[in-house]
Amino acid sequence: MNQDRPETRDTEAIFCHRCGRLVHSGRGEYFLVRIEAIADPAPPADGSETLAPEEPTYADLLAELENFTERELMDQVHRRLALTLCNACFRRWIENPVGDADNDAN
Ligand SMILES: [Zn+2]
Repeated sequence: MNQDRPETRDTEAIFCHRCGRLVHSGRGEYFLVRIEAIADPAPPADGSETLAPEEPTYADLLAELENFTERELMDQVHRRLALTLCNACFRRWIENPVGDADNDAN
């Protein structure tokens, strides 16, 4: 019966994906970082786009898709992530969001 009293609105417990700190929604304690990665969205650079593009048929697409799981297909062309970062972690992350390439080489 008290559901519409805003001061009693539940704050959702959320954990920072980086440090694990508990943060609460509705208190300005964290950033939600959405990352969308799309494999080269430009048309092919091999000149093939100058030809009249041949629309693949639905059957063609199905045949192609059969070689991959849905998950594999998604990972190849499109990744979407949502990260929760507490304010402290966000400030550190946003300074260097792409990380340090040297760390990959090990
Ligand atoms: Zn954190």
